[in-house]
Formats: sequence, structure tokens, C-alpha cells
Amino acid sequence: MVRGVKSNKSQMLPLTLPMSYSELVLFKGKGMYTLNEGFLIDSFQEMLKDIYTLTYGNYILELIDMSMVDDEININLFKNVVVSFYFLKNKAVSDRIVIRKFELDLLKYTGHSLNFENCGICRNKIISSNYIIYPPFSGVCGNCNKKNGIYISYSVFSFMKYLYHIDIMKIHILKENNYILSEIEKINSELIVTSIGKKPKSLELLEIL
Ligand SMILES: [Zn+2]
Repeated sequence: MVRGVKSNKSQMLPLTLPMSYSELVLFKGKGMYTLNEGFLIDSFQEMLKDIYTLTYGNYILELIDMSMVDDEININLFKNVVVSFYFLKNKAVSDRIVIRKFELDLLKYTGHSLNFENCGICRNKIISSNYIIYPPFSGVCGNCNKKNGIYISYSVFSFMKYLYHIDIMKIHILKENNYILSEIEKINSELIVTSIGKKPKSLELLEIL
């Protein structure tokens, strides 16, 4: 709860805008918090000027909303949201790479680990794979029966594995590949629905542009 925030003169208004990154002092009352003071670290208002970054920013917030409960603390995810917003704002790397990385880290940090290292059936070590099964997500080795999963190309599997393990701070070194990113988008979308149990809506806007 923020008193007087709807007034244009309220100093609290910028702190509470969607996508604003602020440090807030909250007082816990009965069932709700009251915002008493705070300061703005970055408003990320540049993201609102571009329909793509605006949509991707909303999508990140929607994923957080879907996968966490009120008062839950997740430092890794928080760091990922802030870093993703800076990448979207500064355009230091393709928006699509930022979003695919965020989806993979969201799964990782909400307890839905992806296994790129061992066959999901016989547990033998694998380097790459052209077949995946989920949930839980695993590649399948060349010796095991391929059923109840989907074929993907080795290049998609390998890039996805690299993207899953790389520190988000280093994703600016990655090159955009349309085919690979589109394939990962489809797989991530399925993984989010099967792992989190809901389908996000924010990206639907981009389909009509
Ligand atoms: Zn196997």
C-alpha cells in the first residue's frame, strides 16, 4: 500500500512504476505492506519506448509472477531479472538471446533442472543428443529407445546446453542464430508449461506485429 501514490506530486510514484528497480523500506501490517520510503535505482523507462523490449520486460515479470509465491525470496532469480533488464535496455545482446537465457535460468532456479550431461534413460554420459524427453528434461543417448520425446538437431541441443550453463553476465559474447533460437523458443515454451503448469500470455502480442 502506498499513500497518495496516484497524485502526480507523489515522490513514491516513480518507485512503484512497472519495471522500476527501487530500494524500498516497507512496514509489514496486517496482510499487507506499507511503503514509507525508498529510492529509485533505475526506472528502465527506456524499455517502454520499444514495443519489443516492453513486451519482453512484461514477459519476464509475468514469468516471475507465475512461478513464485508472495514473500518468496530467490536471490538468483532477482539477479537474473535485473541483468536481463539491463541487457534489454542497453541492447548489448539480441533480445531473443536474453529471453531464452532467462527462461532457462527461471527453470533452473525454481527447481526444474535440465539435464544435458547424462542420458535420461540409461544415465550414461552424453556430449550431445538429437532426442529429448521431459519432464524432467534430459537428452537421450544413441543406444536407447527413442519414444515419448522429440527429435531436435545436435546444434540446438549443444547451444541450449551452452546457454543453460553460461553465466548470464557473459551472454553478450553469443551470436544470434535464428533457426536455433526459434527451436529453443518452442522447447522452452513446452518446458515452462509442463514445469510451472501455466502458459504465459505476454509474448502473444509479438505474433500480431
Ligand atoms: Zn541411454
